[in-house]
Amino acid sequence: MSSRRWRACPECDWVSALPVLRANEVACCPRCGRELAHRHSSAGQRVLAYGSGALAMLLLTLPFPFLAFTLAGNRQEIVLADAALAMFNNDWPLLALLIALAIIILPGIFLISVLYLYSSVIAQKRLDNRVFPGAMVLARNLSKMKPWLMTDVFLVGVLVSLAKLVGMAEIDYGWSFVAFCGYVVLLVKTVSLVDADWLWFALKGEPKPPLGIRTGATATEQQAVGCPCCGLINHDTQPTCMRCHTPLARPSPQRLQATWALLLTAVVLYVPANLYPMMETVSVGGTTYSTILGGVLQMIEMESYFVALVIFVASFIVPIAKILVLSYLCWLAAHPQAQATQRRMRWYRYTELVGRWSMIDVFVVAIMVALIQAGVILSIYPGTAAAAFAAVVIITMIAAMVFDPRLLWQSSSEQHSTLNMIETGQKP
Ligand SMILES: [Zn+2]
Ligand SMILES: [Zn+2]
Repeated sequence: MSSRRWRACPECDWVSALPVLRANEVACCPRCGRELAHRHSSAGQRVLAYGSGALAMLLLTLPFPFLAFTLAGNRQEIVLADAALAMFNNDWPLLALLIALAIIILPGIFLISVLYLYSSVIAQKRLDNRVFPGAMVLARNLSKMKPWLMTDVFLVGVLVSLAKLVGMAEIDYGWSFVAFCGYVVLLVKTVSLVDADWLWFALKGEPKPPLGIRTGATATEQQAVGCPCCGLINHDTQPTCMRCHTPLARPSPQRLQATWALLLTAVVLYVPANLYPMMETVSVGGTTYSTILGGVLQMIEMESYFVALVIFVASFIVPIAKILVLSYLCWLAAHPQAQATQRRMRWYRYTELVGRWSMIDVFVVAIMVALIQAGVILSIYPGTAAAAFAAVVIITMIAAMVFDPRLLWQSSSEQHSTLNMIETGQKP
């Protein structure tokens, strides 16, 4: 049993003892089915290969032309960074920062961190088991960065923009566009190969779990708590994880209030996001404004039904569905029932998975604004709704992260005891 790794499921708090995993084996929580660890064959070498490939592609993406647009003799050529710069030049600096973070800065930091960490693990034997300086800080932040790497969403945004421009003007692809496609594929592959469980074991070994810990019960019942970063089980008197030093938190109903507050903010911002225009198009015929649904109708008129469906689902259905599902889960978590089900967990996972794809429309606006600047012939400017809608997407993503799914599995008696402890000033 000593070689086993004890884990508390981050989604249902159930304690499991993982067997030694061989290559391509996956360990899942027996109660809710959440993946706890996934071993990849030759993970170290493959992550280094894909990661350095992705970083090289990112560097190649930056200096060369990305797309070019020609209309009535006017040619406008843009590089990738122009998608963010165009927003900055139109007085939306926060949107510019968001786009730059999502497609260039955070993926760049993620790739450099991954290459540094895996190199550290490989060099460890020659360094008497010491790790590179700063490796712990980087490893702690890897999983936090993952949901915000949106290069794949941006690529779909580019394809939607091109579908909107088809027949309107001549579009040329630059070398940077080709490199960007390679960058997206290699980055997605690198992210899928990074195994936090393996990485933390390689960096810091496996400290023993608290004495007397057993499987077949939750960590909370055993006065223990699972680390949200490295997965290690700690005694609940520890403020931070003994392996990775991440702050520890037992399931607390207080997290529900934060989720409700974020959901309410998203609902309020969803109104201007739909009422105000996403884009303003200036042409010889005058200025036209298009809202999210207006853009969908425009695509239906152009008989681009598939693109209309993509925008309708990503920009209209997904944010509403996400707010409704999270509200329902918050209500369920506050009114625990005997039969907490796997189906609810599936809804929770879907909301986490699909939320980031709503950013497609914001990226479409950024690309169109950067690309289509042909003066009075045809120019596009961002509308107020672009900022409001981006805020809705980000806030609902944070709400899904703040929501603690472990509460869905707690019985009402457990929740009341936690609440009583909070009220009487004890550490929950
Ligand atoms: Zn579980
Ligand atoms: Zn930890």
